[in-house]
Amino acid sequence: LLTCADVRKTFGSAVVLDGLDLSVDEHEVVALIGASGSGKSTLLRCINLLTEVDDGTITLDGEDITNPKINPDVVRRKIGLVFQSYNLFPHMTVLDNITLAPVKVHGKPPAAARELAMEWLNRVGLADKSGSYPDGLSGGQQQRVAIVRALVNSPRLLLLDEVTSALDPELVGEVLTMIRDLKGDGMTMILATHEMGFARQVADRVAFLDNGRVLEQGPPAQVLGDPVEARTRQFLARII
Ligand code: ATP
Ligand code: MG
Repeated sequence: LLTCADVRKTFGSAVVLDGLDLSVDEHEVVALIGASGSGKSTLLRCINLLTEVDDGTITLDGEDITNPKINPDVVRRKIGLVFQSYNLFPHMTVLDNITLAPVKVHGKPPAAARELAMEWLNRVGLADKSGSYPDGLSGGQQQRVAIVRALVNSPRLLLLDEVTSALDPELVGEVLTMIRDLKGDGMTMILATHEMGFARQVADRVAFLDNGRVLEQGPPAQVLGDPVEARTRQFLARII
């Protein structure tokens, strides 16, 4: 579904992505792990076209999305990105937060957008919050609304950047459950995380970023339990 080939990204003299290769199959869930500053968020932002790559190509469904002629809005509808801080608009209700982009950016009829939003809110148990403002919701509820906001575009791929790390521990579970349900539906996802338990539970594959490349990747049990590379072992030893 997605292929990053020889992707390079520098900020000034800092080389963040240094010829990175990563492929993701349809229905696959890939966890990106690596030290703080290893480029996980940068890679997700490049895939979503929020950051321009310096070199290399990213293809989605066989289409080169790094081609400057491509319309980024069309790509972003196919690739949802959810951040650590939910970034809901505080002055808008839950329902308006979710339907804003489909209606304003993608020209979906408002009634159809609302219907789809309510379907998703029902599924994740938040239908009764549709008229609430974000500050009336718990962190876990806000994060689930942020994920729903990405889902109403029917993305081909969902990128999740540390979606549980701003949450109180007791709220992490409800977001994890939602992500597991999405995996059950066959949603293709790439998730950056510092929580190895999370990676182990939901990922089909774990990719360890180091020095701007994927140094090692494989099934969670192998990469997290019996890594091949010394640097992966060092990283895991430091965080556990
Ligand atoms: P964390 O685990 O802390 O979220 P990360 O793996 O997501 O880290 P990135 O946020 O991708 O790491 O950052 C990688 C490097 O790129 C860091 O050194 C960061 O300072 C640098 N960087 C990221 N965005 C920019 C920017 N817009 N301008 C300059 N440097 C940047
Ligand atoms: Mg990050």
